[in-house]
Amino acid sequence: MTRQDSPWYRQLHWQIIAGLVLGLLYGVLAATNRWGGFTSDWITPFGTIFLNLLRLSAIPLVLTSLVTGVASLSDIKKLSRIGGKTIAIYLATTAVSITIGLLVVNLMRPGDRIPQQMAQTLQETYQGDTQQRQSAARQASEARGPLQPLVDIVPENFFGSATSNRNMLQVVFVALILGIGLIQVRTKHTEHIYGLFEGFNQIIIKLVGLIMYMAPIGVFSLIASTIVSVAQDDVQQVLDLLGALGFYCLAVILGLILHVLLVYTSLIRFLSPLKLKKFLAGITPVQLVAFSTSSSGATLPVTMERCQDELGVSEEVSSFVLPLGATVNMDGTALYQAVAAVFIAQTLGMGLDLTAQLTIVLTALLASIGSAAVPGAGIIMLVIILEAIGVPSQGIGLILGVDRILDMLRTATNVTGDCTVAVLVASSENQLAEAGEG
Ligand code: ASP
Repeated sequence: MTRQDSPWYRQLHWQIIAGLVLGLLYGVLAATNRWGGFTSDWITPFGTIFLNLLRLSAIPLVLTSLVTGVASLSDIKKLSRIGGKTIAIYLATTAVSITIGLLVVNLMRPGDRIPQQMAQTLQETYQGDTQQRQSAARQASEARGPLQPLVDIVPENFFGSATSNRNMLQVVFVALILGIGLIQVRTKHTEHIYGLFEGFNQIIIKLVGLIMYMAPIGVFSLIASTIVSVAQDDVQQVLDLLGALGFYCLAVILGLILHVLLVYTSLIRFLSPLKLKKFLAGITPVQLVAFSTSSSGATLPVTMERCQDELGVSEEVSSFVLPLGATVNMDGTALYQAVAAVFIAQTLGMGLDLTAQLTIVLTALLASIGSAAVPGAGIIMLVIILEAIGVPSQGIGLILGVDRILDMLRTATNVTGDCTVAVLVASSENQLAEAGEG
């Protein structure tokens, strides 16, 4: 892995930025010249391989790092202290992000700027897609009592959970109890098991480092193919859509920027010894991979590697805080859900009173926790928020066309939040190593 002191062109984040910019240029060129076929045959596969390599590493990494992380804590009191702190900061930052989202959307009122005719056309265009998302949301919330989210965390069969990256929270749970079991039973036999998990963990971290050499090409390919698939050989259509939904996109983007600038950077500046510049340079590759994959789950291996190697977060803290964060801490998603819900209500001419806005805060908090760390998960949970405040969920048809772009940005925000909290928890536990200071 390239380090900060090598020449800039050898530093990973600059290489990834180059991949991103070139991918953007190529994507626009391909969309305008109708190179869709060539792109999907010869460019997309490299992005898919990169994405699959990251996804492939995610579950083994969560399992081995969390088991060794918990088992090395050697006492349950410490585990509950770090756990309590982590969850409290996650919930607090998410609540702040929703509030920022609500303030921005209520002040900008992007829904008032959409001509009625355009709103109707959009809803008709995306009717089929809307129904798909609605039925996915219905399935997710079907026959659900108030404690169902808790029940969902506990799997009946671990191998079933490990078959899909969507079940990361179940894997986190299994790893936690395995780690606790290892703390409780310390014999020469269990020492072997601990050693096995630790060894496996070291191997995966090394492999992720190697996979990251492919990141610039992977990011180039992912961005290029996203642009081509969104534009579908008709750039004008994308431009029209962006014109109509420009203010809505602007509200989401402004909210995300404010959250990152006001909340994360102040937390790092005032509550950790880490230099802001060092923090930002360290996490740039994480943000770029999140931006191009739209998945916090797929980005997790990179998040862990950078937090440990570049920010100096101890293995003990990062292996607990980050897998948990990738699945439950989604500030960007929560902010986006709040803006989108109010935007749809505004477009449909429905006023939302204070109770409805407070309902948004609560449901967006829960919905962001429940959103899987995969592309497009946030908009499925948005259906549940809309139903909670009595806004017709067909309204998501209005925003589906630009969802992918916003997904990229909210995922980058989500992972920034995870890294911030990892640094804070590590520094409060005196577990921020030299590597991060300076
Ligand atoms: N793609 C987001 C993530 O993985 C979730 C979402 O908002 O759709 O963090």
